[in-house]
Amino acid sequence: MNAALQPRAVPLDRLGRPLQDLRLSVIEACNFRCGYCMPADRVPEDYGLDAAARLSFDEIETLVRGFARLGMQKLRITGGEPLLRKDLPALIARLATIPGIEDLALTTNGTLLARHARALRAAGLRRITVSLDALDPALFRELSGGRGRVEDVLEGVAAAEAAGFERMKFNCVVQRGVNEDQAPVLLERFRGTGHIVRFIEFMDVGTCNGWDRARVVPSAELRDRIHARWPLRALEANYRGEVATRYAFADGAGEVGFVSSVSDPFCGDCHRARVSADGQLFTCLFAADGTPLRPLLAQGETAFAERLGELWRGRADRYSELRGRAGAPRKHVEMFLIGG
Ligand code: SAM
Ligand code: SF4
Ligand code: SF4
Repeated sequence: MNAALQPRAVPLDRLGRPLQDLRLSVIEACNFRCGYCMPADRVPEDYGLDAAARLSFDEIETLVRGFARLGMQKLRITGGEPLLRKDLPALIARLATIPGIEDLALTTNGTLLARHARALRAAGLRRITVSLDALDPALFRELSGGRGRVEDVLEGVAAAEAAGFERMKFNCVVQRGVNEDQAPVLLERFRGTGHIVRFIEFMDVGTCNGWDRARVVPSAELRDRIHARWPLRALEANYRGEVATRYAFADGAGEVGFVSSVSDPFCGDCHRARVSADGQLFTCLFAADGTPLRPLLAQGETAFAERLGELWRGRADRYSELRGRAGAPRKHVEMFLIGG
């Protein structure tokens, strides 16, 4: 980190956690209706703010510069479906050059990737995560709320590979009795390619996904099943606060990850802030309300960074550690507003 970027000490929140990651949603609309995120019967077809309600590229640049001043080094662009945001590569190009940002990544459902992969790469994007819950075409379509075609996603993946993206990540939200059987299918397909499949526990995000603990497949159970077929060896975390627990295939065919926020919460190392497309700060994936940042952005990068530091210092979130206990917050922001 360039010391000149940090006029003050890096702020720590009330639990001693620094601000290292930002998940920035650039759009709230999506072309899918995954049942665990944006169920079709709860979110209307034409859902989405009008474009003017979204932060402009100028506002986003000020925002990211302000976060970088406080020590944020890892920036992930998300949504809704971020590839629906007009001129996204132009935004990426602006963000890629901001001092202090060491890792710039994108999470996408992949359907529009074939069209944009080359421009994203040229703009400076270096990492892509594709959400992929099934390879079976009929199941994939069903899980996307009848919107997506797995063939399009795989075409997008091929285009991203051709554009130079390596070690892509594939996120699969596993639901018991729904797509558990796709776990070995996904591994069969991506083991040995250099890409990494990560299995994510179905989470109780938002208010409308009908979450039921019985549909959560604990990572340890899934890991044991995979281990029985392809022996695994635990890997050290790449860095403190890494969300996924990593394992290497003993036969050298790469690695697999597990994100276990239900069965094994990791709030103690949560260094992540989230900002919605309309510029609200959420300091937890399960926060009820956000803090509007737009008025602060209008005051410029320095004043914004100062106020953001104060907001971060006041943070005490640890929902996953409190889940199910008396007093744990019940109202949560929708996942499609803050992007995971
Ligand atoms: N639309 C993009 C996509 O799907 O990759 C980006 C936004 S999406 C909200 C980000 C991630 O959140 C996806 O990988 C998705 O699978 C995950 N997600 C959404 N709802 C979830 C839930 N209830 N439990 C676990 N992960 C969830
Ligand atoms: Fe859209 Fe992503 Fe949510 Fe699915 S998980 S509905 S693709 S925002
Ligand atoms: Fe971070 Fe909140 Fe998730 Fe805990 S529940 S890891 S504080 S986002």
